[in-house]
Amino acid sequence: MLEVEGLEAGYGGTTVLRGIDLRVDEGEIVAVLGANGVGKTTLNTVLSGVLPARGGEIRFDGVRIDRLADRRIVEAGLIHVPEGRRIFPNMSVIENLELGCYRRGRANRAANLERVFTTFPRLRERASQLAGTLSGGEQQMLAIGRGLMGEPRLLILDEPSLGLSPLLVEEMFELIKRLNREGLAIMLVEQNVVQSLEIAARAYVIENGVVALSGAAREVAADPDLRRIYLGL
Ligand code: ATP
Repeated sequence: MLEVEGLEAGYGGTTVLRGIDLRVDEGEIVAVLGANGVGKTTLNTVLSGVLPARGGEIRFDGVRIDRLADRRIVEAGLIHVPEGRRIFPNMSVIENLELGCYRRGRANRAANLERVFTTFPRLRERASQLAGTLSGGEQQMLAIGRGLMGEPRLLILDEPSLGLSPLLVEEMFELIKRLNREGLAIMLVEQNVVQSLEIAARAYVIENGVVALSGAAREVAADPDLRRIYLGL
């Protein structure tokens, strides 16, 4: 479904990604892990068409998307939920959700909204409330809900558990599993290594701008290199 080959990216004179290879297949949860500052957000920004790639290829359903505008990538069904939630605090919950309706989601707007409200009953209760008044966990739900409004086929989640209490982190991972069971492919970019590896089928660990470790999540979890990468030993 998503294929990334030899991807290079950076800022000015700095190279962050030095040839990343990874793929996400239909219906999979794939974890992309890496220590702080390794370039996970940079990878997502390139995948979503916001930062241009400096080299390599990105294909979605076999079609190159690394030269497409961000809007076209969303319309193809690859939707990125950014870290830090990036909701619009002075707009209501429902207005924020409607912003997630691109050309793809618009025809089924009402059905998509109903699906989001069924998934997140809290958002239904708070539909007319200003988004900035939601709790951190609710804002995270809103960000994911907004992503769902565009009818993704692959959802890229950037640190969805960041800043949540342990209980909400549990709920977030349950939700990700549920969305996946409903047929959505998910690329989970996380710092939370243990829980991500529990729900993912496969995983990639980035170090020094390349994939240093990859394979079945169970194997990655047991790999001694994982500790070395995270503890920097
Ligand atoms: P974290 O998990 O801490 O968010 P990350 O793995 O997502 O980190 P990135 O945010 O992609 O890492 O950053 C990778 C490197 O690129 C860092 O050294 C960072 O300082 C640098 N960087 C990120 N954004 C920019 C930018 N807009 N301009 C210049 N350098 C940047």
